[in-house]
Amino acid sequence: MDGSNWCEVVEVGPRIYAVIDRDGGWFRNNSGLVDMGDYTLVIDTQYNEARTRDLMRLMEKLELPEKCLLVNTHHHGDHAWGNHLLECTSIMHKNALEVVKFLKDLAPDIYKPFFPQLDFTGSKYTLPEIATSGELYLIGGKREAIVKYAGPAHTVGDIIVEFPNEKVIFVGDLVFNKVTPLALDGTVSGWITTLAKLSEEYSDYKVVGGHGPVADSSIIELLRKYFRHVLEGTKMLYENNVRDPYDIAIKLTNGPLEGWKEKGRLVLNIARALMDLSNIPPGTPVEDLPALAQKMYRYEAGTQ
Ligand SMILES: [Zn+2]
Repeated sequence: MDGSNWCEVVEVGPRIYAVIDRDGGWFRNNSGLVDMGDYTLVIDTQYNEARTRDLMRLMEKLELPEKCLLVNTHHHGDHAWGNHLLECTSIMHKNALEVVKFLKDLAPDIYKPFFPQLDFTGSKYTLPEIATSGELYLIGGKREAIVKYAGPAHTVGDIIVEFPNEKVIFVGDLVFNKVTPLALDGTVSGWITTLAKLSEEYSDYKVVGGHGPVADSSIIELLRKYFRHVLEGTKMLYENNVRDPYDIAIKLTNGPLEGWKEKGRLVLNIARALMDLSNIPPGTPVEDLPALAQKMYRYEAGTQ
């Protein structure tokens, strides 16, 4: 089934819809729309008003129940800045809530210099009604879903939404597909641990990630391989006195994910790996982000 211009709707289980952005790059994330029976479960919104309204139109077109519940897989603006447009009770992890409280009055303004081409009309954070720190069971007339904490990894507040009877899992940005993943706001080593657990628990599930097409569970192992490549390679090069994230990236390359979009994120992932290796807590802001972003662009331009 076709969606709006930017997305394609994939029915991953009976009336479980993955709304997949066709590009998957910066601020181009996926959402989920699930018929729970008497209400719709929305998994992540979109970063601005236009895209979130497209999502709301899809709910109507798919004849989903008007009453809704919203789960944000993490705090990132592309997944959450449209929350306020939906009349849904919303849920996020308590660690994500803490970040949202901090960023609420700063976003989206602090992101604008990095993304001058984007339309931030209607982009803003709102606080969720509910924050969770453990498992939540969502009960509908048609099916059940389980919300679980799975971080720290991509961020410090990553949650996943599991449909055990349909063997479908929405994992937010714990999984990227054909688009280089981004660990800047989380932890590379933590992400490796999370992926190992997901791989064991969901080996026969369909996986809907936060960016890129729907995948089978082999995507989880591929990403684990990538992050091990980044962490172990960074450690080895650092010990051999290659210490700048850009210089490390040139030697390391994206390895198992060579050819994926947004390859310059390797530089950011290496910066986070260096922090992990120094035992700096997950999610701690990187020093001098503008300078690091320049190195990312340089890597992208220099390795075409
Ligand atoms: Zn994210």
